[in-house]
Amino acid sequence: MRFGLVLFLVSIVTISPVLVALVGYRENLAALFMPTESTMTSIRDLGSALPSLEYLSYEVIDSAQPLAVRINFKVSSALSSDVTINSVKLTAYCHDHGTFLGYVSAENAPLVVPAEASAVLRLRVDFSQEGRNDVETYHRGYANLYLDLRNLEIDIQGLEISFSEFSQVGPIGIPVP
Ligand SMILES: [Zn+2]
Repeated sequence: MRFGLVLFLVSIVTISPVLVALVGYRENLAALFMPTESTMTSIRDLGSALPSLEYLSYEVIDSAQPLAVRINFKVSSALSSDVTINSVKLTAYCHDHGTFLGYVSAENAPLVVPAEASAVLRLRVDFSQEGRNDVETYHRGYANLYLDLRNLEIDIQGLEISFSEFSQVGPIGIPVP
């Protein structure tokens, strides 16, 4: 019994930061940044004033083959000077089926986010063959596609910042062509 209790306590200690992160990310993605050691000093200077990301809308760029979708994020900055987002890298997965949908690129980077203001970051998802199959099988004709955005790496002012998963972006409707 005692051994089981110790294991239980250890797992709580290990898991709790993840839970905190999951609760926090819906409010502000910036709360999840996980800097590498080399960027810690600079990150600390930025503190909680890192830009936050909020999903705004989507547009189907090409509903036929190859399939592509644009997703727009509002980037808000509380900093007193302009911030430049140099590059954004991430991958998109189907929330319901876990399928790799495709790589995502920023259409309008570098993007300057004005001081204490916001700007719209346009991300383009180019669907992989696997992703197109998933859409054809489960989602075409319905507004039921939710994206899980993973492996987010954003270069902000030369700082490489990683974000945890941005889950359930959508729903996205892929029309029948
Ligand atoms: Zn799917």
